[in-house]
Amino acid sequence: MQKRRIAIFGSTGSIGKQTLEIIDENPELFSAEILTASTNADLLIEQALQYDPNIVVIADESQFSAVQTALMNTNTKVFAGDQALVDVAGMDCYDLMIAAIVGFAGLKPTLKAIEIGKPVGLANKETLVVAGDIVMRTAAENRVPIIPVDSEHSAIFQCLVGEGRNKIDRVILTASGGPFLGKKPNFLVNVKREHALQHPRWQMGAKISIDSATLMNKGLEMIEAKWLFNLTPQQIHVIVHPESIIHSMVEFEDGSIKAQMGLPNMKVPIQYAMSFPHRIQSKFPRYDFLKPDALHFEKPDLKTFRNLALASEALNKGGNLPCIVNAANELAVYAFLHNRIGFLEMTDVIEKTMTKISFIERPTLEDYFETDGEARNFAATLVNM
Ligand code: NAD
Ligand code: MG
Repeated sequence: MQKRRIAIFGSTGSIGKQTLEIIDENPELFSAEILTASTNADLLIEQALQYDPNIVVIADESQFSAVQTALMNTNTKVFAGDQALVDVAGMDCYDLMIAAIVGFAGLKPTLKAIEIGKPVGLANKETLVVAGDIVMRTAAENRVPIIPVDSEHSAIFQCLVGEGRNKIDRVILTASGGPFLGKKPNFLVNVKREHALQHPRWQMGAKISIDSATLMNKGLEMIEAKWLFNLTPQQIHVIVHPESIIHSMVEFEDGSIKAQMGLPNMKVPIQYAMSFPHRIQSKFPRYDFLKPDALHFEKPDLKTFRNLALASEALNKGGNLPCIVNAANELAVYAFLHNRIGFLEMTDVIEKTMTKISFIERPTLEDYFETDGEARNFAATLVNM
């Protein structure tokens, strides 16, 4: 495998930091070419001093001079602002983008990378939830591979390698169930951010941790799967599997099921996206079938975790509805993390925003940006922000 120059968009986050660890473990295969952060200038500076990237971007412009001063005696070029993220994504100096910004903010830079023909390892699922049709069409036009980093989608992707045009009956996304598996609304009404941030299987950023606790994450992942693998909503199933050993499955038309398995460790799908189509050696801990640990499966509780039902509705209706759900959810999660609303109120915010914002059946990219803004503004009025 030829050495790959990696552009990590969102290098200071959970996925970004693990991507850098993989570069550390395989210095002969990967180098860090571009690193970007939203506000954590200290960590961005530390990373730049360690990895000597060509370029760093700090989205928060007020910290530009601090970053520039700290990196004055290095070869690293420093840029700042949201537009710089897009401009740098459009530079022909890297081989693969790891799209690890969280939320709608990741859409523009990711789309820019695809437009200039750069392969993308996609962690930023919101990009596909919001504008999956446009993102996938642009990727097809430019013959750009989108390699999923999300563990479930990486599992499906790995199950499909070598299958060519063989027909899929359905995909089965596994869900850990999150920290509140088995709980009912009378319990959930009182949970606070500290409880919701404690995920039993995965250490992740704050937003996706809350999404996992509400099961919105699985809803977003259903929509992500639709676009990545060109599936109908009826082909996408969700099953709760608390041990998170099977990362997802594909059932083919002959009834054969392929599953991708292993201990829960995001570095596996991140590394696979970085080395695809190759696999490279790793020292990650291995799964032991003889440990007395049974694998369990159950139906998701859609009555308690209504966000999953709302996301399914958006998956079925399509148009700009997933964009509306995503914007309202980002706002609701933010409000919950700041103790403005309760756990169950997040669902009310999403539901009300879904009925308020006008439905567009075939949105343009501009429509998606407008929808996102309108949905955010409306959701903000609901949470007094
Ligand atoms: P995180 O919050 O830990 O990190 C987010 C990164 O994005 C940070 O580097 C931050 O500086 C940057 N960022 C945030 N807002 C930004 C903005 N407005 N403009 C520019 N940069 C911004 O998040 P994470 O857990 O690493 O998740 C990143 C993405 O990967 C999300 O879309 C998440 O759904 C997806 N994902 C994460 C995991 C995981 O295990 N953490 C698993 C699967 C998918
Ligand atoms: Mg996932």
